[in-house]
Amino acid sequence: MKKIILIISLFIGIQANAQQGDWKTVGKFISRDSITKDSYTLIFVDLDSTFVKQGGAVKQRMEDAFFKVYPQEAKAFNKKTLRKVVFIIDPNYNGVAATADGTVRFNPKWMLKQPTDLDVVTHEVMHIVQDYGDNAGPGWLTEGIADYVRYVYGVDNVTAKWILPALKPTHHYDNAYRITARFLVWIEKDVKKGTVQKLDSQLRSHTYTDESWKKLTGKTVDELWAAYVANENKAA
Ligand SMILES: [Zn+2]
Repeated sequence: MKKIILIISLFIGIQANAQQGDWKTVGKFISRDSITKDSYTLIFVDLDSTFVKQGGAVKQRMEDAFFKVYPQEAKAFNKKTLRKVVFIIDPNYNGVAATADGTVRFNPKWMLKQPTDLDVVTHEVMHIVQDYGDNAGPGWLTEGIADYVRYVYGVDNVTAKWILPALKPTHHYDNAYRITARFLVWIEKDVKKGTVQKLDSQLRSHTYTDESWKKLTGKTVDELWAAYVANENKAA
């Protein structure tokens, strides 16, 4: 069943490109290969002629990052995650990267300009592991967990100069991404280890509610944030 979903998602991806009037480029279909290691397969589809010529080393490092972090993320968060993942190097995608249904689209311009930003892979494939479906919980938490995972499991955040920014008075837990991630790191360290795993699991089973924080840690998310801010200010 998962195989079918994967093939469909690849097809939809190509369809989406066709709708953007880029069928010719897709038709040239520059390269596609499939790598299997242990029980995981990565299908790497390149729709960008520039990336094919210049991105060989980046491609290799993206593949290495995938085979290093995806099994770790699966083991820590969701052992039933998809065994096959598709990466598409898509010149029509203007963000950095995005993920849906086992497929990650990468912007070739970004990957060639920032070839050390390999933990984009770590963040994006965590979205496959998360597999929360619709209306599972707040989007800020989904993105916060993905950046928490990038921070903990990242292959080379240092070279990419990717850090969790210091707390500022304007920050709030629902700012998502790195601001939420830093708050989650503090909860794991100073409040209750394993909270992120439990939140992730509840989001996937659609049992997450606003009460989850209190049940898991004894404090509401607002109380946790107040404690985090107080602790940071004391340390500063
Ligand atoms: Zn994300």
